[in-house]
Amino acid sequence: SFNNQQPVIRALPDHLISQIAAGEVVERPSSVLKELLENAIDAGSTRIRIDLEEGGMRLIRITDNGCGIDQSQLGLALTRHATSKITTLDDLERVATMGFRGEALAAIASVSRLSLVSCTRTAEHAWRISADGELTPDALPAGTVVEMRDLYFNTPARRKFLKSPPTEHAHCLEAIRRQALAHPEISFTISRDGKESHHWPADDAEGRLRQVLSDAFLKACRTVDLGNDLLQLRGWAMIPTAILSDREAQHTFVNGRYVRDKVIQHAIREAYRDQLHGSRQPGCCLFLTIDPALVDVNVHPAKTEVRFRDSRAVHQFIYHALKQVLAASTESAPPITLD
Ligand code: ADP
Ligand code: MG
Repeated sequence: SFNNQQPVIRALPDHLISQIAAGEVVERPSSVLKELLENAIDAGSTRIRIDLEEGGMRLIRITDNGCGIDQSQLGLALTRHATSKITTLDDLERVATMGFRGEALAAIASVSRLSLVSCTRTAEHAWRISADGELTPDALPAGTVVEMRDLYFNTPARRKFLKSPPTEHAHCLEAIRRQALAHPEISFTISRDGKESHHWPADDAEGRLRQVLSDAFLKACRTVDLGNDLLQLRGWAMIPTAILSDREAQHTFVNGRYVRDKVIQHAIREAYRDQLHGSRQPGCCLFLTIDPALVDVNVHPAKTEVRFRDSRAVHQFIYHALKQVLAASTESAPPITLD
């Protein structure tokens, strides 16, 4: 006790550090899924298959056809702060990959049963690595299969915060939708409790929007495609008179990364202010492109927040771009009601 003994300072063991870090990275199954999808995308995959069981709590399996991981690197993939994506602080300024912290797999492995099978394009066969680091030969076409089972089996306190399988599944689907919208060139197949539920073949951006958010959403929107030397805004923004019963969510991306950003959200709200009443939020799917040096994506481990170097310029640009699109739509478009 503190009364009669000096406190002792100890360095925490690695595994415990990962478990603590997992609290930030791995909030629920959908956050595991997000990290695994980002890895598959960073690996250059063109096909990604996602198997979910019990809302991702029992199983999340991602099968990709990306570059794979060499046998000699498999152990490092599960090591904390080991990454193939950046080597210097300068790289961080221009980070083009979704990941870069090198902590996701280690964090996930510390709070679940994780296994990884991978085969590079030049390897004779695949290798499997188990959570304890043991390597065994395996069979797999080029690519990687990451399997996460029994999330939080060893941290019951965290397990209590998980919701029902349908709720967790809905969050997982939302995480997949975000990646699918940002990557129409990748085909996605989803299976839920052993049954295929979605298949989105590779398509152009508009086709993918239709696959993921529905034809009704697309019909209720105006195309946005405006830009200057520094900033570009592309995508779809809802016509104020269109009323959709579902999915009026705002999907916003910065350099291909899904973000929830106050500056962007405020600019959207302001642009619609005179035309949209009450608490209604305009549905949209917008992709902002900006010089990576002008935006900091290193704000939070979950990385849905960004920090702009000049947030006023970003705000004004989005506001004026949407105002322009909305002005055009009120001149020519008849009121549309959809459900
Ligand atoms: P980060 O993505 O930040 O580098 P992760 O812990 O998510 O960190 O992954 C560690 C490393 O494992 C990556 O840098 C990458 O080299 C490798 N890796 C992970 N998943 C895959 C995958 N699906 N295909 C190829 N390599 C992968
Ligand atoms: Mg990663």
